[in-house]
Amino acid sequence: MSCIFCDILAGRAPASFVYQDEQVAAFMDIHQPPGLGHLLVVPRRHAAHLADLDEETGGRLFVVGMRLAAALRVAVDCPGVNFYLADGTAAGQEVSHVHLHLLARFRSDGFGLRIGPGYFRAPRAALDRAAASIRRALDDQPEG
Ligand code: 5GP
Ligand code: ZN
Repeated sequence: MSCIFCDILAGRAPASFVYQDEQVAAFMDIHQPPGLGHLLVVPRRHAAHLADLDEETGGRLFVVGMRLAAALRVAVDCPGVNFYLADGTAAGQEVSHVHLHLLARFRSDGFGLRIGPGYFRAPRAALDRAAASIRRALDDQPEG
């Protein structure tokens, strides 16, 4: 199975790296906004989805993301940063290797995630039922 991010991590494909350690690496996304502030943080070991990652590596992805967000604010002089992670093709994941997007944001830059037409302001009873069902699923999870 070929994976473009594994190729990049192994040096078989080019990338502009900003950070590397034993667990994760970060490089410039090939698609950029005008200010060139779009980064990807990826685990070194191939994992298609978040559920395939151990918790330590998942945590590292976000810790490194936090540091890179601070660096982006300085280097690109952006007043905000979005974190975005598409987990699963239904969520918009195109590259099947976990990756955390960091996007430098500027006021009125036109970037946005659109909520679906079916979204509604839910009543408390429905929210409580949904929360209980998620709590049950959480309790049933094996320890990461
Ligand atoms: P996804 O849609 O899966 O969340 O994001 C995949 C990202 O990978 C996209 O933003 C896309 O621009 C980026 N990408 C795809 N191919 C390459 C590549 O060869 N090199 C780099 N640096 N980024 C890539
Ligand atoms: Zn991979």
